[in-house]
Formats: sequence, C-alpha cells, structure tokens
Amino acid sequence: MTTKIEKVKVLIIGSGPAGYTAAIYTARADLKPVLYQGLQPGGQLTTTTDIENFPGYPDGVDGNQMMEDLRRQAERFGTDIRWGVISSVDFSSRPFKIVADETKTILAETVIIATGATAKWMGLESEQRLRGYGVSACATCDGFFYKGQDVAIVGGGDSALEEATYLAKLCRKVYLIHRRNEFRASKAMQHKAHNTHNIEMLLGYVPVEVTGEKNVDGLIVKNVETGEQKKLDVQGFFVAIGHTPNSEIFKGQVEMDEAGYIITKHGTTKTSIKGVFAAGDIQDHVYRQATTAAGTGCMAAIEAERYLSSDH
Ligand code: NDP
Repeated sequence: MTTKIEKVKVLIIGSGPAGYTAAIYTARADLKPVLYQGLQPGGQLTTTTDIENFPGYPDGVDGNQMMEDLRRQAERFGTDIRWGVISSVDFSSRPFKIVADETKTILAETVIIATGATAKWMGLESEQRLRGYGVSACATCDGFFYKGQDVAIVGGGDSALEEATYLAKLCRKVYLIHRRNEFRASKAMQHKAHNTHNIEMLLGYVPVEVTGEKNVDGLIVKNVETGEQKKLDVQGFFVAIGHTPNSEIFKGQVEMDEAGYIITKHGTTKTSIKGVFAAGDIQDHVYRQATTAAGTGCMAAIEAERYLSSDH
C-alpha cells in the first residue's frame, strides 16, 4: 500500500563511491539530495579489505572505513541518507515516480542511478570463507598484494584473460582455469595471454575448493572430463566469471545493453531518459574502479544540476 508522497530535486539510488560522490556534489550545490543506500550500504568496497589505489590514502584504507568517510562527507553537506531500497521506478513522465520500501512514493525531478554491479562467485563455501583473505573478484584492486607469489584465476572471458595478463606482470606464476577448451574472450586477448610465459592454462578444469585456515594456501581443481583432482600451491585466487549489473528495477524504463548495463550517452552520464543519469558500475563494465565510479558520480551531479537549472 502506498501512503506518503514526498517531492525531491535529486534522488540518488545507491551508496557506493558513485552514489556518495554524486551526493557530495549535489548537496554542496544546495539541491538537498536524498540518497537511498540499498541492500548493501557502502556497496562492493565493503566486501574488500585494504584499498591502496584510491587517491588520497597514501597508507591504504579499509573498504568499510573509506565508505564510512564518504558517507560522512556526503552527510556533512546535508545529504539525506536513508536506509531502505527503491522497489520500483516510473520514468514515463516528469516528475519521476519512485516507490521506496514498497510504501513511500517519491516524486523526483532528477534521478541518479548508482546501483553498481555484483561480482559473480563460484558458490564454493571455502571461497566465501576466504573472501578478502586471498580470494578476490578484482585483480586490478588486489593483484598488488600477491607480488612475486603464485596465484590462480578462473574464467574464460575478456575479464579473466585481461586480469591474468595483468597478474602475470606482478606474480611469479598465474594459473588460468577455464571450464571449457575454448575461451570466449577476444582473439587479441587470447593471443596476449598465450604469449605470456608465466601463465599456465588449465583448460577443462573447475575449482572445487580453496584451501587455507586464515589465508589462502592452495586451490584444488578438478578435470571436468576425467574427474581427476589436483592441488595448486597458490596464495591468491581470483574469480573473473562476470558481473551482474543491479538494474532489475530499471528494466523497461531506461535503455540497457543485453547484459543489463544502463547505456549512457558517450562522454556523459545521460541515459535515454532526460533527467535520469547513471554513474559507476551500473553503466561501466570496462573499468569498474572506485575512482572511475567516483568520477562518473561527479559528472552525474553536475549534469543533474545543469538539467535542473535549464528549461529541460
Ligand atoms: P563473460 O560473461 O564474458 O565471461 C565469463 C566467463 O566466466 C566465461 O568464460 C564463462 O565460461 C565463465 N564462467 C561463468 N560462470 C562460471 C562458473 N560458474 N564456473 C566457471 N566458469 C564460469 O564476463 P567478462 O567479465 O569476462 O566480460 C563481460 C563483458 O565485458 C564482455 O562483453 C567482455 O567482452 C567485456 N569486457 C571487455 C574488456 C575489454 O574490452 N578490455 C575487458 C573486460 C570485459 P563459458 O565461456 O564456458 O561460459
């Protein structure tokens, strides 16, 4: 049942670096943004440990701490940050009609979508237990911690091959595990990986268990045809089997690609609906970094502000 109706100038959906950066900028522009945190307040970074590549933290920062810092910064300028989830949106007319927590209706002049993407996991119990302790879904973020060590990465798409090549520059050895004998990655990416001397490919294999008490000390893999198992002595295990953009509630409302990423006009955060902007991983399957998410969050805020002060 829908009861209350509220009017806002800027509604931000999502509380990762994109959402909070959009909040900081729109709050400082006196637009009194309302931000809904969603199911995972703080977003993907709250599931990692040390972040060493976000500018401004020379000694690195814990993911939860960084998101807490961003939240406080957004709050300092008056962002109305709320627990809760957006249950549906209607972008067919302006102001946009948004329902929060299935009960509250919000009429928003602009909407910034920053709901991010969720990394896919293998679904192994040991993988979840050791997440952040040797198991990671982001080689660019965490590869540095395995300098000179041996690691394994699973997947056969562009992400897995690109990340394997990246890891090979830092690590002594990289096992690339893929369940089929053929990669779906582009030929160019395959060529690069094949020509990297310290990548060993295990085709027709799947990971069955990550070993280690407090930190990863190995990975057991199984040959899908013969069932034969072997243990790889690795200190890091990277999962690169794809991401799912968190765009379910926007289906049919804004233009998306086949995978469900929101399409933005090149060089902007503008979506197919005027007044609706998308920032961060929900519109980016290439870079997926906190820094790029924050950058597009800033762009969305500036574009929302300009939209509001124009005649549309
Ligand atoms: P993809 O969906 O392309 O690939 C996922 C890979 O993981 C597939 O090889 C798949 O195997 C494998 N996989 C999926 N589930 C499992 C599972 N449960 N167990 C084992 N293996 C599994 O995802 P990507 O993230 O690689 O790429 C997403 C998109 O982003 C693509 O369009 C890609 O081209 C693009 N991209 C482009 C880049 C660039 O241009 N520089 C860089 C990175 C991504 P199978 O093949 O058997 O299905």
